[in-house]
Amino acid sequence: MISSILSSKEVEKAASFFESARNIVIVTHMSPDGDAMGSSLGMKHYLQSTLNFKLSTLNLKVIVPNAFPSFLAWMPGAEEDLVYESQSQEADALIEAADLIILTDFHEPKRIGSLGDKILATLNGTQNVLIVDHHLATTDVKVTFAKAKELVTFIESGSPSASELVYRLIYQLSTLNSQTTLNSQTTLNSKLSTLNLEAARCLYTGMMTDTGNFSFNSNYPEMYEIVGQLVAAGVNKDEIYNKVFNQYSADRMRLMGYCLYNKMRLFPEHHTALIYLSRKELYRFNFQSGDAEGLVNLPLQISDVYYSVFMREDKVNPSEINLANGSKIKVKISLRSQGDRPVNVLAHEVFGGGGHKNASGGEYYGPLSEAVQKFLDNYQSYFKPT
Ligand code: 5GP
Ligand code: MN
Repeated sequence: MISSILSSKEVEKAASFFESARNIVIVTHMSPDGDAMGSSLGMKHYLQSTLNFKLSTLNLKVIVPNAFPSFLAWMPGAEEDLVYESQSQEADALIEAADLIILTDFHEPKRIGSLGDKILATLNGTQNVLIVDHHLATTDVKVTFAKAKELVTFIESGSPSASELVYRLIYQLSTLNSQTTLNSQTTLNSKLSTLNLEAARCLYTGMMTDTGNFSFNSNYPEMYEIVGQLVAAGVNKDEIYNKVFNQYSADRMRLMGYCLYNKMRLFPEHHTALIYLSRKELYRFNFQSGDAEGLVNLPLQISDVYYSVFMREDKVNPSEINLANGSKIKVKISLRSQGDRPVNVLAHEVFGGGGHKNASGGEYYGPLSEAVQKFLDNYQSYFKPT
């Protein structure tokens, strides 16, 4: 039995959104990771299978702000995603036609650059907005989305992944009994039948990646009930592990070796590791989107390292020029920690970012050396020496 953590009133409202929608866009965050892809595509496959038999005119599309990494390209439906950076005209037309906009794995439009601006500029009281996210709410979504027709939010910062929340939404939808709902059967089989295999594979992927293959934020029994249901729905978890985690290029493996051998700096008094890479170094290893994934976690394998910070130089996207103060370079910062050692405070206060207690990030618009210095000047007052 999965507990109903989502407000049933809001779940019913979401059901009514789905019933009336004809043109749906699902949007996820910049530099989509496994959970961003999993929650958006999982939602799409669920809606497709649930609504298609009712509606002959359903338009349903996932829009990602920029390209997803190649190790997620196998995900069912990923190839149909619109990439805003290169397909903005097509995406704009869909946003303008949308009667339901669904955001997964983020809730602050500013995190998706010009795609967020477009969504906010399009809202005119005729579009319903549904948000499913597990990031800490730092802004008032009611204010941000004041121009939505109606807004339903499932923002649960205690949840390890947005994909798990999408699962919970689907589960709760399937247990609703009122006339307005899409599915009133209550047996386990019928619940599973609303969750087709494509949706299940996507949601499993997001749950797996946002918990580091169930190695953090993963210590409660219900998570494994959900995993059990996904496996019962046909998910081959071993196959998905291989597709996601064993897909590195030789260049990426050599970059990893270079980071650990040549670049890792340790600050033992604060149990901290720091790795930073310039554009030149990335170029040397033929850096591709997604190649940095996981590098920040590596130093945590050292017995006395509890905080890990990874920085890499990147160019400023056209969509974020307004944030860059004229700088053409930015530094992407990733922070990880173990146990009760929050890194999101430093991410927020020093690098204008945010995130979860043990996994957060931010950006610095300027040269790498400045970002490194800013970190060195500040980390001792944020990271505990115990
Ligand atoms: P990553 O290090 O994998 O890029 O990001 C880890 C987590 O940090 C993300 O899930 C997200 O919650 C958060 N995060 C990363 N970059 C930013 C940022 O620039 N702003 C905010 N608010 N959060 C970020
Ligand atoms: Mn996530």
